Amino acid sequence: MPKNSNQPSSPEQGTLSRRAPLIAGMIVEGSRGIYRVQTADGNLRCTLRGRLRKQLEYGESTSGRKGVRQVKVMEKDPIAPGDRVRLLPTENHSGIIEEILPRESGDFSRRDPGKGQANLTTVAGLDQIVTVFAVQQPEPHLRQLDRFLVLAEAQEMDALICFNKLDLGVEPWLSRRLEVYRSLDYPVLLTSAGSGAGIAELRERLAGKTSAFLGSSGVGKTSLLNAVQNGLGERTSAISDTTHKGRHTTTGTRLFPLTGPDGGFLADTAGIRAFAFNGSLPRRLDQCFREFRPYLGACVLSDCNHRGEPKCAVRAAAQGGTVDPERYDSYCRLVEAGVDLGESE
Ligand code: GDP
Ligand code: ZN
Repeated sequence: MPKNSNQPSSPEQGTLSRRAPLIAGMIVEGSRGIYRVQTADGNLRCTLRGRLRKQLEYGESTSGRKGVRQVKVMEKDPIAPGDRVRLLPTENHSGIIEEILPRESGDFSRRDPGKGQANLTTVAGLDQIVTVFAVQQPEPHLRQLDRFLVLAEAQEMDALICFNKLDLGVEPWLSRRLEVYRSLDYPVLLTSAGSGAGIAELRERLAGKTSAFLGSSGVGKTSLLNAVQNGLGERTSAISDTTHKGRHTTTGTRLFPLTGPDGGFLADTAGIRAFAFNGSLPRRLDQCFREFRPYLGACVLSDCNHRGEPKCAVRAAAQGGTVDPERYDSYCRLVEAGVDLGESE
């Protein structure tokens, strides 16, 4: 007598569903044990298999304002948007996540978030950040670009430098600076959401990757995303707005599929925007300036910060002009701002 004979379905069916093959998918949204997963069979609402659920950890919210109900916030979630999983499909577009595949690329959640911050900034498996500036209106601040590049380097993600509003004209000083970044092998793309210049190349560079756009408001992120794919800008920024006014801090980031033949995903920027230097980097800061790397072994002091130390090869290179002095200055400002030098590799 089969054990499950008391169930309405036949024993064969029961066996069949238990043995159904797992399918692959990618988390596009969710937290706290309920996730939306993009699969070849569509977008499924999934929960976690028991042993994975045990990895969820809850902590009490630190917000104890009068009249505000204490909310439980997630301190630790084994899964983040961008994670690739294997799951057992069940009925009604649902499934059970059986397996979380190891993360290969950038992971904004690797560092422990501060107490009470939960996983606001979490995106796993981010391949690329796209730093967006306007060539003017607003005036671009290249210190901010250097900070974005440090973030990308620290997480070993690709960075695409995008300067929008090309139709307004590029000032000579900016052209000269962009050459510096090209010489460091960063791709620099000039676009105009208005005229359509550079949009085809932007679309190509997003294809097949999971990307996030970073940039101040007003530079044209929404317009650019709409130019890349109809409605994409509105969808991603609408999410940003709700998250900012959000009821919970754990809404997390959503990923939107790109419709091109090579696929790809775009992360909404709400979570990423909150990401700032508020802890230590997973790599040493000096490693995050790629042009410093050839000099890093050549300083006399092994723990050289490349500021005032004697016989510093990096500072000498900046003074000699082989390292761009402005980039060196950006590094110094980050050290002054207290960005942790991270662990030695
Ligand atoms: P976001 O805040 O970064 O999402 O920027 P928006 O997409 O909302 O754009 C901010 C403003 O810049 C809007 O008034 C847009 O019409 C304008 N804008 C966006 N792209 C361009 C462009 O390529 N050229 C010009 N001249 N204006 C643009
Ligand atoms: Zn040094």
